[in-house]
Amino acid sequence: MKKDPRGQKPNIKNKRLNNPQSCIVCARRAGAFAVGNGGRFGWFCEVCGPDLAWKAFSAVHMDDVEMRACKAVAEMALDGDPDLVIHAAELPDFLSWCIIRFADAMRKEFAS
Ligand SMILES: [Zn+2]
Repeated sequence: MKKDPRGQKPNIKNKRLNNPQSCIVCARRAGAFAVGNGGRFGWFCEVCGPDLAWKAFSAVHMDDVEMRACKAVAEMALDGDPDLVIHAAELPDFLSWCIIRFADAMRKEFAS
C-alpha cells in the first residue's frame, strides 16, 4: 500500500468521518442524513442506510474491514487467474467495476 507523505498508511475512515460528501460505509456519495454523537458524524448513502452506518461509525478496526473488502474485490477480479491483464482501454471500466464491488463488499462486512 502506498504510504502518505508523512510515512503512514492512509486512514480512510478518518476521511469519511465528519465528511458529508462521503458515505461512511461505502465511500460513495452520501445522502442528506448522518449518524453520530459528540460532534462526530458519519453520513450515509441511501443504499447503505443508517443501520450499516452505525456499525461503520462504531467500528474500531475500520482499516482491517476495508482491507478485507479490498481483498474480496481482488479475488473477484482475478477469478482464479493470477495473471490478470487489463489493457489501458479497459482500465476505466475495470476501475468502475472495482468501486462498485468495493461498496458491495463494505456493505457485506457490516451486514453480518
Ligand atoms: Zn453507502
